Amino acid sequence: MTVYVFGHANPDTDTITSAIVMSNFERELGSTDTIACRLGNINKETKYVLDYLKIDEPILIEDIADGSEVILVDHNNPAESIKNLNKCNILKVVDHHRVMLNTSYPLFYRAEILGSTQTVLYKLYKEYGIKINKTIATLMIAGIVSDTLLLKSPTTTEEDIKIIEELSEIAQIDYREFGLEMLNKGTDLSGLSVEELLYVDAKKINFRDVKAITNQINTTQINKVMKMKNDFEEGIDIIIEDEKIDLYLLLITDIIKGNSQVIVKGKRSDLFEKSFNVKLKDNTAFIEGLLSRKKQVTPIMTQNA
Ligand code: MG
Ligand code: MG
Ligand code: MG
Repeated sequence: MTVYVFGHANPDTDTITSAIVMSNFERELGSTDTIACRLGNINKETKYVLDYLKIDEPILIEDIADGSEVILVDHNNPAESIKNLNKCNILKVVDHHRVMLNTSYPLFYRAEILGSTQTVLYKLYKEYGIKINKTIATLMIAGIVSDTLLLKSPTTTEEDIKIIEELSEIAQIDYREFGLEMLNKGTDLSGLSVEELLYVDAKKINFRDVKAITNQINTTQINKVMKMKNDFEEGIDIIIEDEKIDLYLLLITDIIKGNSQVIVKGKRSDLFEKSFNVKLKDNTAFIEGLLSRKKQVTPIMTQNA
């Protein structure tokens, strides 16, 4: 029976590379029918990584048959997963997010408070004595770089730093040079429509009863991206209607300076103002030092909801 390995919808580099690395892990353990999949289009940052390694994108899946066997990486939230997840048989989860999953059966579940899923996968490879070749090492580096914004995000741990250095030896690349190039590709927004940008890294999330979508656009020039503010706002209003959400947060993050300009819309915008102790002007506020949704947005918004 085919085992589908995939990360979250609106895939990022950690999700895509983790699906590939996890399916390789399963094959090394003896599985013959495990395939790496994705739930959406890859972004430019991820494309750079796959092109660099000359490897194919994971297979796009939109729906799979009820009863399918699946392995989740880089997520466990059913809202960010395949639609019929509750009718699938989840064999394993490897992740670094808070736990949102509830199953009626036992499963292999590995989550750690680390900067990326790839850091967790590195540890699994070591524990199971599976060889990490150059390609796998480079994929792991890519996931760590992407999620920690080259070790700048407050989600970065000592283990991430130690492991990315070890991986650089194996991959024989300078992770800083490779990482900067990779992140730079991700800041290229050319050719993307407003709607694509508004879903580029979007995550559906509930802050208690407040239904929200948070999205993050990486840039080195906040001002330039903010020229699209009016278009973003129009697009966000449509999304709020369509998705029936109370709040949409768009973080436009300067990955070099480590700050975010946030566009906030929805009937619960007050929750953002309360959480960050700011007054929105024209639906936006600049937040010094804001890089991580997981660590700097979700906990405080949930607490205040
Ligand atoms: Mg991710
Ligand atoms: Mg991740
Ligand atoms: Mg991210």
